[in-house]
Formats: sequence, C-alpha cells, structure tokens
Amino acid sequence: MNKISAAASQSQLEQTLARWTKKLYHKRIADCSPKELYDSVLCTVKEYIAARPVITGQRKVYYISAEFLIGKLLDNNLINLGLRDEMEQILSRQGKSLNEVEEAEPEPSLGNGGLGRLAACFLDSIATLGLPGDGIGLNYHFGLFRQVFEDGLQKAEKNDWIEKRSWLTRTDVVYTVCFGKKKVKSRLYDMDVVGYENGVNKLHLFDIESVDESIVEEGISFDKEKISKNLTLFLYPDDSDEAGRQLRIYQQYFMVSSAARLILDEQRRLGHDLHELDRHAVIQINDTHPTMVIPELIRILTQEEGFDMEEAIRVVSGTCAYTNHTILAEALETWPLSYLEKAVPQLAPFIRELDAREKALSGDEKVAIIDGERRVHMAHIDIHYGFSVNGVAAIHTQILKENELNAFYRLYPEKFNNKTNGITFRRWLLSCNPELTRLLTQKIGEGFRKDAGELEKLLAYRGDGKTLDALEAVKQLKKRQLADYILEKEGIELDPNSIFDIQIKRLHEYKRQQMNALYIIHKYLEVKRGKLPKRPISFIFGAKAAPAYVIAQDIIHLLLVLQKIVNNDPQVSPYLKVVMVENYNVSYAEKLIPACDISEQISLASKEASGTGNMKFMLNGAVTLGTSDGANVEIGDLVGEDNIYIFGEKSDAVIRHYEQGDYVSRQYYKKSKVIREAVDFIVGEQALAVGHKENLERLYRELLNKDWFMTLLDFKDYIRTKDRVLRDYEKRRKWKQMSLVNIAMAGFFSSDRTIREYNRDIWKL
Ligand SMILES: *Cc1c(COP(=O)(O)O)cnc(C)c1O
Repeated sequence: MNKISAAASQSQLEQTLARWTKKLYHKRIADCSPKELYDSVLCTVKEYIAARPVITGQRKVYYISAEFLIGKLLDNNLINLGLRDEMEQILSRQGKSLNEVEEAEPEPSLGNGGLGRLAACFLDSIATLGLPGDGIGLNYHFGLFRQVFEDGLQKAEKNDWIEKRSWLTRTDVVYTVCFGKKKVKSRLYDMDVVGYENGVNKLHLFDIESVDESIVEEGISFDKEKISKNLTLFLYPDDSDEAGRQLRIYQQYFMVSSAARLILDEQRRLGHDLHELDRHAVIQINDTHPTMVIPELIRILTQEEGFDMEEAIRVVSGTCAYTNHTILAEALETWPLSYLEKAVPQLAPFIRELDAREKALSGDEKVAIIDGERRVHMAHIDIHYGFSVNGVAAIHTQILKENELNAFYRLYPEKFNNKTNGITFRRWLLSCNPELTRLLTQKIGEGFRKDAGELEKLLAYRGDGKTLDALEAVKQLKKRQLADYILEKEGIELDPNSIFDIQIKRLHEYKRQQMNALYIIHKYLEVKRGKLPKRPISFIFGAKAAPAYVIAQDIIHLLLVLQKIVNNDPQVSPYLKVVMVENYNVSYAEKLIPACDISEQISLASKEASGTGNMKFMLNGAVTLGTSDGANVEIGDLVGEDNIYIFGEKSDAVIRHYEQGDYVSRQYYKKSKVIREAVDFIVGEQALAVGHKENLERLYRELLNKDWFMTLLDFKDYIRTKDRVLRDYEKRRKWKQMSLVNIAMAGFFSSDRTIREYNRDIWKL
C-alpha cells in the first residue's frame, strides 16, 4: 500500500495516535512498547477531550474533598469519549493490546477508600448528567502508601505516580496561603473530567510550589516540621504524633484557602456579585476535612470584600452543604483550639466568633463548636453554618437523626436529608466487565448505559436457562482471569471452580475482617477433622491498614499467617485457599469484583455508614453475605430476602449494647466451644510456628478483653449463615437466578441517581 492510501484508510483516531507515537518516540504504532503507547494514547485522548465542550451554567457546584480516589483514567476516558472499541481495534490490528497499554498507566492513590472513591464516582456522574461542577482537592505526590508484605507484616512505601506525561495539566493559577506569618505558594493543577457522551468539568488539585520529594526517608517517613516542603507529599500522613496531627491542619487549611480563592475568583470572573454567591455557587463539603472553608470564606468576605459579619455568615451558610460519612466517634474530627491558633492564627477569631454566636442561641453543650476542653468540633461548624446535612444511606441518616446528631436534628430538622451513595457504572460495569456488558446489551439493549433503571429488564430472563448459563459463563471467565492474575502477582494458585468468597475494603475492626478470619480457622479445623466442603472455597482479601493502627496490623498478620498455614497444608489446601492480595487499590478492585461469588459485607450493624463495595459486587452478579448495615439494608429491600444473606444483630440492638455497656466478649468465648477453639487457634502452636508472638497475642487479648466491635457477638450466626450460603451455591439454578436478580436490581445504585438527588434537593443547578 502506498503512503497516501494507507493514510486514507486510517481513521482520524488512528492518525492522531500515529502522529503522537512519531512525535514522542519517532516510532510507528507497531514498534512502540506498551509504555510508549500509553504515553501516546494519553496525549491522543487529551487532544480529544480538549475538543469537547466545557459544561457551563448559571449555578455551579464545587465538590471539596481531601480525597479523590480516581484510579487509572485511560479506560474510563476512552469509554466516556466513545472511543474505547475503536482504540482497541486500532491497537489489535497493529499486534498490540489495549489491556497491556492500560497496565502501563500508573495508579494515582489520592484517597484512602470508600469516601475518596465516592468523590471520584460523583465527578463522573456530575459531568455525565451535564451539570456544571468541579472537584477541588490536593495533589498528593505520593498519595496513599503502597503496601508490601514482608515477613507477614504490612510495610508502607511511597507510591510515586506523577510522571512527565500525565492527566495533570499545570496551570498559571498561583495563590499565596498564609499560616500566620509563614507563607507558601499554592499552584493549581487540573485534570479533565469527561462525562459519558457529554462535556467536560475539572478536578482542581492544589500543590505547594516548594514541594520537595527528596525529604522522604525510609518508606513513608519524613520531617513533619518542614511544611513548605512536605505539605502535599502524602495523603493523611501518620497522625499518631503531634507533628503529624498539626500537619493535617496545615493540609486542610492549604486546601480550603486555595479553594476559597478559586471559587471567589471564578465567580467574580463570571460577573456574579459576591453578595449573591449563594445563588450561583454551592459548596459540597465531603466529610469534615474541608470544614475550614466556612470560616475562611467568612474571613475573606469580611476582611477583603467589605461584608459585615451578618451578611458574610448569611451568604456562606447559604452556599455550604455538608455530607456526613461516619458515626465512629474517633473519626469525627475535633482539634484543640490551640493547634488551630498556632497553624492558622488569622482564622481562629472567626471560629471563636461562630462559636460565640451559636452559644448565645442554644447554650446546649452537645452542639457547641468549642467544647469545655477547648476542642473544636468540625462537624458542628458544618451543621450550624451550612444549609444541608446529609447521610449516605437510609439507615445511616436515620441513626444520625435519632442518635448521633439528634440534638442538631431537633434544632434544624429541615437541614437533614439522605442521599444513598452510588457508583459509576462506566467504571464498575462497562470498564471492568466488558463481557457482562456485552451480554446485557444482547439481552436488554443499550438503554441501561444511560438509564441504569433499565437493568430491571433482565428480570424477564430469570426463568431462561440460556441466559442463566451465559451469565455463569461470564462469571467463570472473570474467575479464570482473576486466578491467572493472582498467580502472576501473588504466586498463589486458585481453582476457578472453587467458590470465590471476597472481602476487600480498608482494614478496620468495625469491618470485621477478623470475623472472616475466625471462620477460616473454623473451616480449617473442620477439614482437619474430616468434614470436607462440597466444593473448594477460595477466601480472598485485600486491605490496607493505617500505619499507626496497631490492631489492624495484627489482623493483616493473622490473615497472612492463615494464608501460609492453609495453603501449605496438603490435607486442607485442595479444599481451602486463602489469599491476601498485596496493595489493594482501585485497579485490583476492578479485577476482583467481577470474579466474585460471595460479597462479604459483615460490618457491625450501625457502623458502616453506607459502603459502596457492596454495590459494585451486586452489579457484577455477586450475592451479598452481610449484616443489616449501611446500604446492605437497601440492597436487601431491592432484591428481597431470598436473594441476599443477612445475619447478625440489628443496629438498634447494637446501639443498646453500647449504651448499656453490657457486651462482654469473654462470656461468648466461655459459653461456646466453637468460638473458643477458633479464638485459641490464634495463639496456638501452629500459628505461633509461622507468625509473630507479639502480634498474635495482642490480637487474641483484644478479642477476649475488649472486642469493641463485637466480633464474637455475631460469630455463630455468621458461621450458620455462611454455611447455608455454601450449600445454596450447589443449587446451581437457584444461585444463578439470585445472581441475575442482583444485577437486575442494581440500577438504583448508579451514582447518576445519587447525583440527580443531590441536585434535586441540595444543589438545584
Ligand atoms: C469501592 C472501594 C472502596 C470502598 O469499599 P467498601 O467495601 O465500601 O468499604 C475502598 N477501596 C477501593 C479501592 C474501592 O474501589
């Protein structure tokens, strides 16, 4: 073929890509490495995004969040631009694979878990619905740590994700942020957020100009005092010491001070009178980390814009709305006023003013901003001086109203509302499970891609053997793909015909990975006694633990000990396997979730505000084994009790146990042989032979003497219910029908629905 006709037969996309491979690497597409192709596809996609319209409007939402757990972006951007299939074909014609190219993308880890992932899903949905709305956060250079296992323990390393060519665009926007007399320069970096077949919004990430990556020493340790060098190095640095906690305040203020400037600048540029800020802008405060934006805006409006205090408070309160994500007391931020006075002396008087005004009105200590010990309750600022307070699942909002925030609810009933979380189906179905997407399209058409409610059309196939078999075949394929990946990454072989039982989420005692571990011990002992499961079971975990959270580290250790004992026992390993995958993150989730049979959602009732992992699993055809907690409750309402396994104490009973302080784990231990032998195994000969005495004994003592999240309370019901799940898995037709019903009813959990509700009730864009 001569040159001209070759070019003519190339699509515009292929020509653009070929232009980039030539420009960047002086190569043809066919000669590039996956990394070179990644860079070239990245530049190609950015060019296509630049040609899309920016979403505009008279009123705009600013979603401020300390975390945006965006994951890799290439596949999603290709999907949202409608270019994925074509890119796949172009590459495969040249002997390349899009998958391999995508493996070369570094993963940003700008979030810890669910809260940050929610923010990322929301940005996708805001743009997809064509709503004007930008994210505002921080450009952490190393994000959340990368997890490695050494000698059965978690080690934290820095996750270096920013490369020369990335989704970030450096802008000319620079602000000065003052910490008293200390000043740092803040520079804005932008990422484009492309809606699915729609226009473009932005994720604004601020960074200090003077950041210095070289101050990081071993692992993730660094000099916490040097804020002009370290401020944007890590997400939530270890806050087990005072300097670490101080640093968080610096980070938070850096974020909101930059955000306030950006918002006010943009609103002025749009020609809006700042006295009408509440007409043109709404600021959604994602958890308490961005709370200081409230006093900061009031400070700027009064000190620089000539507002009087009343007017500034009125405008800011009409602009800010707060999302609560937790009822865990230890997670509701309070800061000693002295820390704030030290870090941001210019802001402290405004916090004291807001506190004084509130005290003059109510005088109820429970709702005080500054309490008797001179601690500042960040959530209280949000609730008093914002116009909306929302929980993230029906049961969570109800607990906020009736218990945790009842005093506030009685003051401001009109502010409280629920917005059950959601997930973007572009990432958690179209991108991570193209095989299932294709099958669904064959059966029910394309409509569900835009209107997730159309998934319900699948219910018509509940009695259709062919469809059930096709669903099973997809699940089987995804299990094989995952088994291959785990063999490569973890060196552990899984049988794709075994049941894949998966618990992946941050490691926390309230999420109760330790209860799942006790079940594995129970099963192990049964097999040793000759009681064999009908079919092999693969127990799969993924979880990072906060470096300073000791018991969480011990639970990881126990899981790694069990992995060793079970997998190396020739009598047991044909029936049971345990895998704790290293460095669980968004990309790993995308591989694990489509392959799951049983979705483990076993938090202590009342403690998991919503969960979103549960939704991702449901959408991909897993059946939930869970407690009556968070969005599990709403999943149960949608699929009906025959299509979910709910066990354990209900939230009101749990709340009563806490109020009366009458839960004593040792009593459960004493009463039950099954519990005793599982718990004792943790410090038995076998475990001590492969594990560390210190970690195992500490965990054992914790379970017996404290067990704050009531593992032993629900353990026996968990065993009973899980054994029933395993039996039901053998009723193959019934199981496949359950799986189908879960997929069909998952439409409610599209974050498009969630964002429509935010817009209808709070943002009104
Ligand atoms: C969805 C997600 C979470 C949240 O999981 P939960 O089970 O809801 O806690 C955490 N981490 C990652 C990487 C996720 O994708």
